Amino acid sequence: MKVAVFSTKLYDHQFLEAANRNHHHEFAFFKPHLNRDTAVLAAGYPGVCIFVNDQADSPTLEYLAARGTRLIALRCAGFNNVDINAAAQLGIKVVRVPAYSPYAVAEHTIGMILALNRKYHRAYNRVREGNFSLDGLMGFDLHGRTVGIIGTGKIGVLVAQILKSFGCRILAYDVYHNPECTALGVEYVELGEIYSRSDIISLHCPLTPATHHLISTEAINQMKSGVMLVNTSRGALIDAHAVIKGLKSGKIGYLGLDVYEKESNLFFEDLSDVIIQDDIFERLVTFPNVLITAHQAFFTEEALRNIADTTVANITDIETGKKCPNLVEPERQVVG
Ligand code: NAD
Repeated sequence: MKVAVFSTKLYDHQFLEAANRNHHHEFAFFKPHLNRDTAVLAAGYPGVCIFVNDQADSPTLEYLAARGTRLIALRCAGFNNVDINAAAQLGIKVVRVPAYSPYAVAEHTIGMILALNRKYHRAYNRVREGNFSLDGLMGFDLHGRTVGIIGTGKIGVLVAQILKSFGCRILAYDVYHNPECTALGVEYVELGEIYSRSDIISLHCPLTPATHHLISTEAINQMKSGVMLVNTSRGALIDAHAVIKGLKSGKIGYLGLDVYEKESNLFFEDLSDVIIQDDIFERLVTFPNVLITAHQAFFTEEALRNIADTTVANITDIETGKKCPNLVEPERQVVG
């Protein structure tokens, strides 16, 4: 199939071409994000391949459908950036990569917890500048601490497993109870208890209408003073204004973000020579107890290989009329 690939970096190019060796699709690689303005690049391509910050909203899909597109292939698990109902009405199939390396995201989450606690980001800079003082670097033992995990799917269960081995007590909230977690000794509780009992809270649920701005002022007010909050899931799970208020008051003692609600204007690009206009983001980076990575939790060799292999196989399934296991059904639409 002829496929227009958006938001392409060199690594996407390399991994997709390698995965395509036995499939023979024709990829055209474009650097811009997909949106209504850039959709013209995909005119005449039956396949359009996109990532987390591309926008396949209804007008964009209408434009693409009128010019022959019949497949949107997501190179990620989340599909909050695609209007699934509009796609279905226009006869465009949507496929995704439901799992590529839950280990990558779980391990990055643990890295953020350790870095925030033991302040590696600050220690690294100090030592390079010849400052060997330990003042301000004191952490706490993770052993014996209580961690609340919201969302115990593929990634959440791995985070629970790793933290169990550190000697943490694990609380969890999910709309479904994962028997793997129960077997690990994880205690399922209501959200209020996650907030009131946890020293560390880590988010691993998808962005849906029910989870949009889940971490609000009301939720933060219920948390322990000095709580550590980590989000490697989707930016809009957190109300950034509320979190800034929580950081300023000391209620939030540590914040780790791999995702940010308005990240599509920032992440994956080198903006080091640009004046960033997002004042909320810029305020967040000023706090010494905030660690932000630019949506890199997924970014391992294994994950990129799996993403490319599944994406190419998905496109082949649709092209050959085979039943694709990774088709997104309209009723599973989420917001974003
Ligand atoms: P998953 O589908 O395996 O698990 C998600 C879990 O969330 C499920 O158990 C589900 O029941 C639960 N859930 C759904 N609605 C909920 C709600 N209202 N409250 C609490 N729990 C709820 O997904 P996963 O593979 O574990 O991924 C989790 C999230 O991580 C994804 O949704 C995605 O947004 C994010 N992610 C981020 C990166 C990254 O690079 N930062 C990479 C991959 C995935």
